[in-house]
Amino acid sequence: MTDSKTSSLPIEFEEGEAEFLLGHLMSNSEDLLYLILLENKEFVFVNRKFEETLGYTIEDLQSEKFQFGSIISTDSLEEVEARDERRKRGEIVENQIRFWAITKDGRNIPLHASVIELYWRGKPAILGIARDISLETEHLDHLKETIRINQMILDNIPTGIVLLDRFLRMRYVNPKAQEFFGKTNSEMLGKPFLEYVEPQIRETIIEFTRSGPSRGIIKSPITLTQVSPRPRYTQWYFATIHQNEEIVMIQAILVDMTEIISRQKELERKNRKLVEVNNKLETLNKKLDEFVAITSHDLKAPARRIATFGTLLQNSPNLDPNEQEQLRMLVETSRHLVSMIDAFVNFSRLDKAELNFQSFEMEKIIDFVIRMSLKEIIAKNDAEIVISRPLPKIYGDYKLMSQVWQNLIQNAIKFSRDGIPPVIEIFAETKKGYALFYCKDNGIGIPRDKNKVIFEMFTRVHNEEKPGTGIGLSIVQKIIEMHGGKIWVETNEDGVGSTFVFSIPLHSYQ
Ligand code: ADP
Repeated sequence: MTDSKTSSLPIEFEEGEAEFLLGHLMSNSEDLLYLILLENKEFVFVNRKFEETLGYTIEDLQSEKFQFGSIISTDSLEEVEARDERRKRGEIVENQIRFWAITKDGRNIPLHASVIELYWRGKPAILGIARDISLETEHLDHLKETIRINQMILDNIPTGIVLLDRFLRMRYVNPKAQEFFGKTNSEMLGKPFLEYVEPQIRETIIEFTRSGPSRGIIKSPITLTQVSPRPRYTQWYFATIHQNEEIVMIQAILVDMTEIISRQKELERKNRKLVEVNNKLETLNKKLDEFVAITSHDLKAPARRIATFGTLLQNSPNLDPNEQEQLRMLVETSRHLVSMIDAFVNFSRLDKAELNFQSFEMEKIIDFVIRMSLKEIIAKNDAEIVISRPLPKIYGDYKLMSQVWQNLIQNAIKFSRDGIPPVIEIFAETKKGYALFYCKDNGIGIPRDKNKVIFEMFTRVHNEEKPGTGIGLSIVQKIIEMHGGKIWVETNEDGVGSTFVFSIPLHSYQ
């Protein structure tokens, strides 16, 4: 079929010839054939293919209600009638028409027909030779949709895209690239791309195209490009589109690297600062270590000496009871000073302690501490320790954790009420990924407003008669924090005694 615009020449057949010819065409043709009279648009013939495709038999079509107009869609009918009008007015009309036919079961099928005007038994008639173009139409619609989507993507993508022909002239510039160059599409179309970009980029693309179509994607160096309102760091990616080993198009993709570069620079600056601060901190730490070592030594030595002399003097026969009492206090104070210095050194070394994390049962530590370190004080104070077994397993440092329990239990016994034997309950629960451990006593308790300060260094809230340095809880808190947990103290509900609670995160690999 051609698209030529010619008026069909009316052909006249001898009677019999036309019927023979039509009969032959109709039975063998893979096209849909139909013959209609021009005066009333009634069907004279349709072929097998016509019947198969649209579902009507010739009997259907020759019944009264059927005309050509009854089997085509309203839109198509208007077009066909308009064409008829033009033909009647003597205008030249196309002999190719497209219309939507309605099948017997109500579907719409696009047909492309060539029409031949002729005489049928002396009456003007039309022979239509049509083809079902559903598939082509569908493909075309699909293609149109694909093009539309591609266009939409190219127009809205936040990346600049320029399509170049093989002479590196711009054939398409998407809105983002237009914005970057500060020029409209029409200003740039057909212009050489190389005139718009930096020398380094020019080199990249020239080298790229010279190396032939087999190379995949290449990227230019990052360059600082002077565009308004402020310069931007950019990088171009080039990819070729080829056909039969020939480059037909080059895709140039613009990536704005400004944000990334400035973030990178900021990061580098921060890193440098961090290294500086770290170095300073390291020097300071070293100095602090030296200071702690020297002062602890310098302080401990005289304190020890005082205690030793004091003890020696205490044995002197010439002292009255008052002097003896004063000497006893002197010895005690010096010993206290030594243990305070030791505790302080201990605390300051915690940060540097080599951690040895492993999984273990908390009960084991508590049993161990009770057996090895607290036996005496428990017996002396007639203390009872009740453990709700089993306690959760944790992942932590065994040695440090035993220091925690030793401090907590010792305090619970030390701060008991006069004449009331200490009862210490130890229990635990798991909650939101943490194990919570409780150490509850029936001792003298802690005033609510002191719940926080007791964890501070050298803070003691009870009378000075109880021995201690005020550092124990600071060490405990530090150890718990080194395990990723928290510690706090609550006053018991009945107002008697307090409960220390600490959390330790549960690990999946415990
Ligand atoms: P120390 O026990 O050496 O005084 P800690 O840091 O262990 O130092 O405790 C700080 C203070 O907190 C104690 O002096 C005491 O006043 C209070 N405290 C600690 N544990 C308890 C407890 N179980 N009951 C009552 N008070 C406590």
